[in-house]
Amino acid sequence: MSTATEAATERVVHRSCPLCEATCGIDVRVDITANRALSVRGDEKDPLSAGYICPKAHGLIGLQDDPDRLRRPLRRDGSTWREIDWEEAFAFAASGLREIREAHGANALAAYVGNPNVHDMGSMIYLRVLLRALDTKKRFSASSVDQLPKQLSGALMFGGSLSIPIPDVDHTDFLLVLGANPVVSNGSLMTAPDMRGRLRRLAERGGKLVVVDPRRSETARLADRHLFIQPGTDALFLFSLIHVLFEEELTDTERLETLCNGLDEVHALSREFAPEITADVTGIDAADTRSVARDFAAARTAACYGRIGTCTQEFGTLTSWLVDVVNAITGNLDREGGALFPLTATSSAAPGPPPVTPLAHARWRSKSGLPETFGELPVASLAGEIDSGGDDRVHALLAVAGNPVLSTPNSARLAKAVESLDFFVAVDFYLNESTRFADIILPPTAPLERSHYDLVFNELAVRNVAKYSPPAVQHEPEARHQWQILCELAGRLHGANADVVDELAIDSLLGSCVGREETACPNVSKEDARTALGEERGPERLLDLMLRAGPYGDRFDDARDGLSLAKLKASPHGVDLGPLRPQLPDRLTTESRRIELAPQLLVDDVERLRSRLEERPGHPGLVLIGRRQVRTNNSWMHNIHALAKGRDRCTLLVHPDDARALRLEDGGRACVRSRVGKLVAPVVVSDEMMPGVVSLPHGFGHGTPGVRLSVASNLAPGVNINLLTDETFLDPVSGNAGLSGVPVEVEPA
Ligand code: SF4
Repeated sequence: MSTATEAATERVVHRSCPLCEATCGIDVRVDITANRALSVRGDEKDPLSAGYICPKAHGLIGLQDDPDRLRRPLRRDGSTWREIDWEEAFAFAASGLREIREAHGANALAAYVGNPNVHDMGSMIYLRVLLRALDTKKRFSASSVDQLPKQLSGALMFGGSLSIPIPDVDHTDFLLVLGANPVVSNGSLMTAPDMRGRLRRLAERGGKLVVVDPRRSETARLADRHLFIQPGTDALFLFSLIHVLFEEELTDTERLETLCNGLDEVHALSREFAPEITADVTGIDAADTRSVARDFAAARTAACYGRIGTCTQEFGTLTSWLVDVVNAITGNLDREGGALFPLTATSSAAPGPPPVTPLAHARWRSKSGLPETFGELPVASLAGEIDSGGDDRVHALLAVAGNPVLSTPNSARLAKAVESLDFFVAVDFYLNESTRFADIILPPTAPLERSHYDLVFNELAVRNVAKYSPPAVQHEPEARHQWQILCELAGRLHGANADVVDELAIDSLLGSCVGREETACPNVSKEDARTALGEERGPERLLDLMLRAGPYGDRFDDARDGLSLAKLKASPHGVDLGPLRPQLPDRLTTESRRIELAPQLLVDDVERLRSRLEERPGHPGLVLIGRRQVRTNNSWMHNIHALAKGRDRCTLLVHPDDARALRLEDGGRACVRSRVGKLVAPVVVSDEMMPGVVSLPHGFGHGTPGVRLSVASNLAPGVNINLLTDETFLDPVSGNAGLSGVPVEVEPA
């Protein structure tokens, strides 16, 4: 897993960076004697990132050494905190949750799961165990301020909640990007480290990049063509593209006809969205839309990709759907150079077609009427679940690695609601804007102290790879990994111990992987497989099972040259499993076993899009969008000095024409108001913005009393964009928050 350097007191640990979706390979240089990580650099032998890293990777050292990072459980004592031992912490947390459940029922407990969980193998495995133990319908996560519309449209079209076609950026000839800034993010729902290099190679092979975005982003600056678009109108633009593709007979549906339902319906729906009709609302000239459609269709291969701006808006699910419709009707879905499904090392390898995935949507609703999706309610409804009164209100919250008070819409309302809870358990290593309201905080180990395997982002990667990350440094003996905390809480909620919970987890996974005809390993008994996996508890044993029973696995057969955790550990830079390959129809788990090109839920929502054409012609007034920055991802990164230092990045970008009309000056300050709140931010006047659109980054707004984030609070507190975002401004199909296109008024402060 590691190699010794020249100095005997140092070693280099090869692993993946867990700070964002790109999963870059990193080499962590460690002082063995001091048990300290000294530096981070790119792993040149990593099969996906080939040595690339962004500045955030160096933040891993800052995070490891951060004196603000909690190392022991904290229990509230009035307005102060005291450190307690783990036994007292678990007993207090579990009994508090149990008391609320006994008094008010299971749905009086809410759970919120933050984005960092997806970067922690142990969390990904054991969270579902804990959530099952909580047995509440009041589950929330960061998904509904992020990618939920894409997951829902993928499930409707292809069957699974992670059925998301990934642009084959390394082989495509034409990349159309909407509402995404992959040069800064290195891909999102598209794990693609060094996106700048990948786009350079696209240009070198004669390919074209077209970006459609209300801001001339870092990605747009590299594009052959950039088109400003009015926020929230991407679905109209995409329908117009589809209109032109059909009208000018530019579609390529030969293969599709045997694979899909709904082609004629999509054609019929697109008829009323001619580019000449949508142009006034999207802000894109009809001639430009027509030429993009023609260029897309003329390219040997092409991929359409939409991301955060296409999801976090009023028409998030419609837009996410239409992105894949464009790929499908041009023959680019499931084709090299188009958009394909990865085949990961932990995918199911059971023989025969995979079982149908029943759609998990709208089986229950929030008090405000928003639908559940994949077992979760939209987080935009969380405050209402707490503060709207009634016997069925939420009384207690368990938040795991999240800061919803800062990162979800209408922060001020949610802060008041969370403060009013009867009981709040936080699993987090920071005392942040949300956990300051907790009764107890259970801090897990830091990323460099735990092992990792990327169970999610390999499902979204532009190349099939597998890499195991060992811990780089030892954690303190009494510290707990997040999976241990989750397991312990799950056990105590059930009146069992954590070992029993872990046993149940491995037993259940064994049942689906070995010993029966319909499993990937029919010739191996559960007992033999369990013996082969060893006795060590925790996520690695489950990972080993998933790898061995996966499509590249050894299936517990020594004669078979397949993957296992041991083999992965022997390849410390990771294993290359090859480029993306076509996988349809095998990948389809819809009831029809076909691509549903016109799902009824979305066809029904087209009426709402039509009314957008009628309601808001012309200039709709100022609207607010977010923006991604290379030195931050989640809010806690603002507490890392190396990333937070330098110029103030939390600025309001305003187009020069708007600045003139509003009497705003570059370097001055502006007061921004929305329906729900107001804030004051420094102004940067820039023609990178579309007129009528202003932008603030997300994750800022530190310096609140009671928070222990000394760097973030003092060096770069910024302002919280979610004081302006509105919990009622959302995509009603998925309930995803509308963070992009929020109506605002701006004046000099
Ligand atoms: S892009 Fe940066 S933060 Fe993301 S995985 Fe790579 S090095 Fe880490």
